[in-house]
Amino acid sequence: MNQKRRTLDIKEAEMCMSCGDTPFKDIDLYIIEISQGIINQRTLREFGGMTMLVGGHPALADMFVARRNIANLMPAVRVTLCHKCFLMEDHSLAALWEKGIAKQKEESEKA
Ligand SMILES: [Zn+2]
Repeated sequence: MNQKRRTLDIKEAEMCMSCGDTPFKDIDLYIIEISQGIINQRTLREFGGMTMLVGGHPALADMFVARRNIANLMPAVRVTLCHKCFLMEDHSLAALWEKGIAKQKEESEKA
């Protein structure tokens, strides 16, 4: 993945999703993007079958499988954390992800 540095527009600014405080009073903030991937069981079974067929060599099986979609990635959920929360607290990614989904839902209902 080739990712370039970019700027955060004022419109994109959000409060810290852990403590609810502004993340702009310290030196930096953190934005985590979480995408849920739903495993494609059919691809998994086909790949497993092909691997068995070629004597247990996944790299060889990879050359023969037609179906490539191993997971369907859901749109990324964005989570903002302030410097203190990023460094000092233990976070449940699942809990932050759920907060991000709730926030996205709230924003889409506003628009
Ligand atoms: Zn915080």
